[in-house]
Amino acid sequence: MARQMCQSCGMPLNDKTRGTEADGSPSLKYCNLCYQNGKFTQPNATAADMQRIGYEALRQKHWPGFLAKMAVNGVPKLERWNTPTK
Ligand SMILES: [Zn+2]
Repeated sequence: MARQMCQSCGMPLNDKTRGTEADGSPSLKYCNLCYQNGKFTQPNATAADMQRIGYEALRQKHWPGFLAKMAVNGVPKLERWNTPTK
């Protein structure tokens, strides 16, 4: 099974990075960079923006550049960018 990752920026999801729903429960899909209290922190961001933001965030976590790049490469395929807007 694929490792769980944020469906907005591709960040690996764990108890520390998970975002929160409006009721305070942990988000099953998004990280706390992208999604807090049931809302996207950057509702107008594009997949390209999130690639840049995700890349910077991973580099700050001391990921090697090539790994961070690989992680954000898949961003445009993630669910946030492939579901019709409501
Ligand atoms: Zn995210």
